[in-house]
Amino acid sequence: MKDFETADCLVVEGKLALPYTYFAGKVGSKFITTIRDQRKILGVRCSRCDKIFVPPRQTCAICMEDLRDHWVELKNEGIVTNFTVVRYDDKHLPRKAPFMLALIKLDGADTPMAHILEGISPEETKIGLKVKPVFAKETTNTILDIDHFEPV
Ligand SMILES: [Zn+2]
Repeated sequence: MKDFETADCLVVEGKLALPYTYFAGKVGSKFITTIRDQRKILGVRCSRCDKIFVPPRQTCAICMEDLRDHWVELKNEGIVTNFTVVRYDDKHLPRKAPFMLALIKLDGADTPMAHILEGISPEETKIGLKVKPVFAKETTNTILDIDHFEPV
């Protein structure tokens, strides 16, 4: 007899599969289609807070101002503000492990975006490393239209 069968609790074993799709919204859609069609990364600027959010969001995270039409174009260059090595495989992950995920703050932006970092080892990667996006050759209509970032 296993321990959990004698414990004073109910155990329910099962598996859950949750495939889903969702509408990226007007702001998210423009962000992705601009990457896809123009190879440009857009953010939104809150003039009240003087902050530029990337990825763009519909409302300011600080003051809740509507930012839908406050687009700004960012430079295709930024710095790594944090990173990790993904060491397990999972269906939802964009690469086979191991690979690096980094938080990248584009020049001019106040918030970082998460993306894949390639072209450098974890041992060589440092906070502040200058990186640039490498755009995908074929679109998937997702954030993976930026295939990955790599050192400048
Ligand atoms: Zn604001």
